[in-house]
Amino acid sequence: MEPKEFSDFAKSMVDYIVEYLENLRERRVLANVQPGYLRPLIPNAAPDDPDSWQDVMADIERVIMPGITHWQSPRFHAYYPMTNSYPSIVADMLSGAIACVGFSWMASPACTELEVVMLDWLGNMIGLPKEFLASSGGKGGAVIQGTASEATLMALQAAKAKKVQEVKEDHPDWTDDMIVTKLVAYTSDQAHSSVERAGLFGGVKMHFIASDAKNSMRGEDLEMAIKNDLEAGLIPFYAVVTLGTTNSCAFDRLDECGPVGNKYHIWIHVDAGYAGCAFICPEYRHFMQGIETADSFNFNPHKWLLVNFDCSTMWLKDPSWLINAFYVNPVYLRHETQGSLPDYRHWQIPLSRRFRALKLWFVLRLYGVKQLQDHIRRYCKFAQEFAEMCRADERFEIVGEVNMALVCFRLKGGNEANEKLLKVINCRGNIHMVAAKIHEIYFLRMAVCSRYTKSEDMIYTWNEVKEVADEMLQK
Ligand code: PLP
Repeated sequence: MEPKEFSDFAKSMVDYIVEYLENLRERRVLANVQPGYLRPLIPNAAPDDPDSWQDVMADIERVIMPGITHWQSPRFHAYYPMTNSYPSIVADMLSGAIACVGFSWMASPACTELEVVMLDWLGNMIGLPKEFLASSGGKGGAVIQGTASEATLMALQAAKAKKVQEVKEDHPDWTDDMIVTKLVAYTSDQAHSSVERAGLFGGVKMHFIASDAKNSMRGEDLEMAIKNDLEAGLIPFYAVVTLGTTNSCAFDRLDECGPVGNKYHIWIHVDAGYAGCAFICPEYRHFMQGIETADSFNFNPHKWLLVNFDCSTMWLKDPSWLINAFYVNPVYLRHETQGSLPDYRHWQIPLSRRFRALKLWFVLRLYGVKQLQDHIRRYCKFAQEFAEMCRADERFEIVGEVNMALVCFRLKGGNEANEKLLKVINCRGNIHMVAAKIHEIYFLRMAVCSRYTKSEDMIYTWNEVKEVADEMLQK
């Protein structure tokens, strides 16, 4: 492609993107296609001679859009948000153009150095203790992972390496294999499925602690499980504390679980995948109480902080455990200044990595802290507005507390009616939600997910729910 063509193509795409994002309400939020819909729409093989970019542009509406579920639509309320923004999209363009692979400082110094500084900025914005920050001059440091799942797995591997070394100091005759078969990790029965998977990847046992009436893991329950395991000859080594669970945005009691972890020399990893974004607002930081007891902390700016996927920020008090757990150093990756700044290849699973700090930099600069705080608060206000409408209808009930921008609700009565309610809502396709189940109670989740949301959208969503319920209950 010639430069002039690129320029025309890119400008046309920017116009398309603006048109797409600004008019999302007009599209059916849920894709309305059947599996296999796409193959008949395009040729069986790549073209021998090039298509024109205009042909490609024309195929976006014909081939791609029918199969898109519109995550940025104000009608999208499923899972948790996956926000984007214009500054972040532009940063990704530049990242694609520079196309460096910042696996070591030398491989592209700006890629590493901007990441180090951005994670200090962001760490300060959420009030992380200085022990986690590179700027403190201590051991602490941070990295952008692709996802929270990777952060949980990497923290588990670091904790595993640390515990194996500690145990070997006491039992020099024990082999690594003997120790690993005794290792046991902990998390709550409300933790995200990625925590269970991290245990499976790591080849260690995992005990799920029953959460309390508020769906929180409590310190005394964690301690009881640890004591039982110690008595059984197991070796507790890792606990994942969730701040803002996926099911219901419940908060484990970090202020209780953290000290228990410290008492038994267990690595505490905090998974604040979604809710961590809200900690840029001081009024939500009480959920982080006990953060000084954690060894690692992770949240996803790509969920709720207007940074495009992928950007999962992870801080560690002592990253050396992670770096040394899988240390390899072939000649072709070495450089003269090794050790002065992070070589991020040691902090993650893959070798190669994109320039993800750029989009964080663009977003933090072009919004500023105050506008980002307003953005978080607006979402939470919309959730409260929806909850109010729901409370005012005596056929419905709110399940648990409304935390952050998630409302868990259900029709009073059995699970079956609620399963039907969700099925019909999603079949109509005007709004999209998913359900969750806690202690056999099935409920719907309404997450505010779009930066385009207005109060009118909450009314629209509520009316849609109410209309389906009216029809169902009349029948
Ligand atoms: N942890 C929590 C609390 C989550 O809510 C989620 C996803 O919603 C995850 C982890 C997984 O996130 P990721 O897709 O970044 O791995």
